[in-house]
Amino acid sequence: MVMTRQAFDWIKGLDCRQVVEADLGPPHHHSQKNNIYKCPLHNESKGYSLVVWEDGVRCFGACNQGWDAVGWVMKFHGLEYREAVERLNPHGQSIQRTSPPGPLSNSRGGAKGEPPDSLWQSEAREIIAVGEKTLWGDRGRRARDYLFNRGLNEDTIKYHRLGFIAGGYKEWKRIANTQVPCGILIPWIADGHVWALKVRRSAGEFRYQQVGGGNLKGGLYLADHITLGSSVLMLEGEFDALVAWRWGRMFASPVAIGSAANFQLDPRWWSRLVAVKVILARMDADEAGIKAVEGLKRISRRVVGVNVPAPHKDVNEFVLADGPNAFVDWLVGLLMEHER
Ligand SMILES: [Zn+2]
Repeated sequence: MVMTRQAFDWIKGLDCRQVVEADLGPPHHHSQKNNIYKCPLHNESKGYSLVVWEDGVRCFGACNQGWDAVGWVMKFHGLEYREAVERLNPHGQSIQRTSPPGPLSNSRGGAKGEPPDSLWQSEAREIIAVGEKTLWGDRGRRARDYLFNRGLNEDTIKYHRLGFIAGGYKEWKRIANTQVPCGILIPWIADGHVWALKVRRSAGEFRYQQVGGGNLKGGLYLADHITLGSSVLMLEGEFDALVAWRWGRMFASPVAIGSAANFQLDPRWWSRLVAVKVILARMDADEAGIKAVEGLKRISRRVVGVNVPAPHKDVNEFVLADGPNAFVDWLVGLLMEHER
């Protein structure tokens, strides 16, 4: 990108907090350093994933992408580079442009339905290996206990290659030239590709974060484990799916969409579902979850919205409280009712 020095300084001098506030109004939360919003770019309903600093904007949620001030305006208003600059600078510093700025370096993920590039994937495989080694080593004890307490066993954890990146809940570690959030590592692996590395933090506002450059959009966790001719139990969270996989995979194939906002699956993954009998969809009982089940039903008539018995709020809690036999009875009962 070629710009006059003056214009470059002007762009560098913009305070992103003011730019975003002009678009979204006062932030939900602010501190001296940053402002926090619900991310409008992925219609966030539950959390507050959009963080704005003086020199940048980043969505740590579904978008998992960062922008400078101009990039933000392009994205939010759907503008070309020049239009965005004009919007920010109506009185005109002169700016010469040869090409629009690329996305920031940590958003290398491919388009929806396309895996991240092979360099990203090879770095991701290195990170997975480090995560596994740490989880089963001395420093992984607390993380292992956490996973066992959530109802997973060693087989399930190893089979699905969960790992642990040691460090505090706000820390990031540099592994394979990549910034990795510290916490429990949940790799999304399917079709021979690593699609994303999600991390469950042990505390903090952003409980789930991911390594930049992954591609979860329209993705389906455990898609490789769908048994032809079986039915599918479609859940929201990865841990739910893993617990269901441990106890229920003989009866139905558990999968997860990662977040309710992600119900519009890419055709690549829908194609895995054409040969299944019914899709029992169980999302969180909040606005986003209800919307997701309705959306899934519109996409396929084989989708049936189901619920875990009250008062449990998800499959994981249900299994922990009532035990695996109650879960299997529930699952088999649903299959008998809805499979034909
Ligand atoms: Zn977002």
